[in-house]
Amino acid sequence: CGIVGYVGSQSALDVVMAGLKRLEYRGYDSAGVAVLADGGLAAAKRAGKLVNLEKELGARPLPAGTTGIGHTRWATHGGPTDANAHPHLDNAGRVAVVHNGIIENFAALRAELTERGHELTSETDTEVVAHLLAEEFSSCADLAEAMRLVCRRLEGAFTLVAVHADEPDVVVGARRNSPLVVGVGEDEAFLASDVAAFIAHTRDAIELGQDQVVELRRDGVTVTGFDGRPADVRAYHVDWDASA
Ligand code: GLU
Repeated sequence: CGIVGYVGSQSALDVVMAGLKRLEYRGYDSAGVAVLADGGLAAAKRAGKLVNLEKELGARPLPAGTTGIGHTRWATHGGPTDANAHPHLDNAGRVAVVHNGIIENFAALRAELTERGHELTSETDTEVVAHLLAEEFSSCADLAEAMRLVCRRLEGAFTLVAVHADEPDVVVGARRNSPLVVGVGEDEAFLASDVAAFIAHTRDAIELGQDQVVELRRDGVTVTGFDGRPADVRAYHVDWDASA
């Protein structure tokens, strides 16, 4: 239901958790985060309110990192359990993805992945994306390109945001029939399903268009279509008062 991504020089966990709190009003049943740190990826997720996730992070702190993603879930496929909460990871634990929406053709993709030896551990439609991204990344070593290739295979409505431990300073997002906004700061960048998540940091925003992928780095963002062609971006300044 809510998505936040961050790359910059601040604590990704702090930025992402604060962003998720700003999106709480939308309602949700579970929450989770993933951070890239020390060449690896660390994630935590819990059913229930953000306070449950905060307790988990207090008991088992994640290593400090400056690239991260977060999610609040409104379950559509699979009950509101810890295992079904996002982020979802591939079997090697190198890629993490969060998702809003529904992937209509997940059952066929799941069957295909299982046949190729992947072990899926949740009941969500989302988890297939982590596995598909890991496969594509292993041949192209470029998360944005992997995302474009995967999105071309997906049906339905989705906002996806992903990180890969082998590209530690990159967050990638994609959207079809579901909102995703980029926040452009100084030496940092944000992704969210709603500007409210990053308005405390920057008011310079880019609205992603239909079937577009964005690659976020701290010094800039690159937007393309699912076909890889450079996309026209609509940059704007958020001037409404979002502090209320
Ligand atoms: N369909 C996904 C799930 O059930 C995402 C739900 C959402 O939009 O939060 O896990």
